[in-house]
Amino acid sequence: MSICPKNKSSKGHRDARRANWKMDTMNLIKCPKCGELMLSHRVCKNCGTYNKKEILATD
Ligand SMILES: [Zn+2]
Repeated sequence: MSICPKNKSSKGHRDARRANWKMDTMNLIKCPKCGELMLSHRVCKNCGTYNKKEILATD
């Protein structure tokens, strides 16, 4: 990919490119602790656990 794009991408071309770019690294897994769906490599929002350790304080 060049630094200066030679041709302007049309809106359709741009949109088509962006259509499947959202969060391809995003991976939904089940939390090993509470079973809630969570993003892998993220702290579980439900129980605040990541890698079997409680990171976030849950009340
Ligand atoms: Zn959890």
